[in-house]
Amino acid sequence: MLTDIKSLNRDELETLFNDWSEPAFRVNQLLDWLYARRATTWDSMSNLSKPLREKLRSQFSLNSLVLTRKQGARDTTQKFLWKLADGAFIESVLIPANPALYGEASDRHTLCISTQVGCAYGCRFCASGLDGWKRNLGVHEIMDQILATERWHAAQPKEESLEPAANRVVNNIVVMGMGEPLANYENLLKALKILNAPWGGGIGARKITVSTSGLAPQIRQLAKEPLQFRLAISLHGATDEVRNRIMPVNKKYPLTELAAACDDYQRVKGRMITLEYILIAGINDSMDQIKPLATLAKRLNAKVNLIPYNTVEGLPWERPSEPACEAFHAALEKLNITATLRREKGGDIDAACGQLRLKTERELATGVPSNQLTDLPPTAR
Ligand code: SAH
Ligand code: SF4
Repeated sequence: MLTDIKSLNRDELETLFNDWSEPAFRVNQLLDWLYARRATTWDSMSNLSKPLREKLRSQFSLNSLVLTRKQGARDTTQKFLWKLADGAFIESVLIPANPALYGEASDRHTLCISTQVGCAYGCRFCASGLDGWKRNLGVHEIMDQILATERWHAAQPKEESLEPAANRVVNNIVVMGMGEPLANYENLLKALKILNAPWGGGIGARKITVSTSGLAPQIRQLAKEPLQFRLAISLHGATDEVRNRIMPVNKKYPLTELAAACDDYQRVKGRMITLEYILIAGINDSMDQIKPLATLAKRLNAKVNLIPYNTVEGLPWERPSEPACEAFHAALEKLNITATLRREKGGDIDAACGQLRLKTERELATGVPSNQLTDLPPTAR
């Protein structure tokens, strides 16, 4: 198997081209084809000489993700199911910053990306881990989610109301899709640096948020990175007792250890951490979580993001009633904690990570012909 060209950074390409006795400006041309023009074939790179293109073709692959399924309508949350070169599926979710309430278009979007096929961490409430972990995504597969989404966007019919300048759709990245990003640390970091680089994705580090279920050693490692990525912790429980019940990772890195790693991150970076807290009925929504949650948030100078649980087919968990969610939120605010209660965007299209993939894998396993899964029209559930 050839290495995908997009898993090389600029320095590596410069060394390679230097070894090949190619002039340095060729690297810029190649990068322009890859990241600005989002080329999918070597042949389209018309300003590179034919022998150079042939040499690149013989030594590197140039993969792109294949859109297999999409849910959601224009200007709302869109969920993409991509097929990788080996046939595995991953998901990305495009979320408008301002959902178009009255039909107006929004030009600011966040893309939620995956970092692994499946997940080994097996949080009890999560669809991504239900069928276990298959493999890490390569650098290019992390990057390709942005490129493929931008390509999809560019191919959409343009409406007059859309700014002509909006040829870019992804302004923010959240690494909150399938998989545990910090368990694929090296590929993640390399991909995020390419995404951030002016010659690559050109997305500011502060517009990139990495979410983790709590891998303490890697949080400390991330603290040492010079780039100012944002950090979100999937907390979902403010005591070891609650956390142990729903997140097996807590047995390895209990709250004291996780909090100490976050202290470290906070101290070095001086940046606000976000604590993600899914509200699951009868599991972690009782008022006895409020005090320890507020104490932790204060200690870490963190804000709390409350997310009513999205039900997952085959799992018994449910979201609390709206008044119960509101009461939890109000109790936190009463203790002077900055907390937001998210009205889950895209809850109607299985927006929580891993669900579309799981559904598709299961349909394939039960014999639904794969051609019926290709380019499905948006489904309204
Ligand atoms: N593995 C990382 C990143 C991917 S999960 C992590 O756990 O942080 C991204 C977020 O989606 C996590 O906060 C996770 O707990 C949450 N999530 C998973 N299943 C969900 C569901 N059914 N409803 C709402 N949020 C969910
Ligand atoms: Fe993995 Fe995150 Fe899902 Fe837990 S919540 S199973 S770590 S993807």
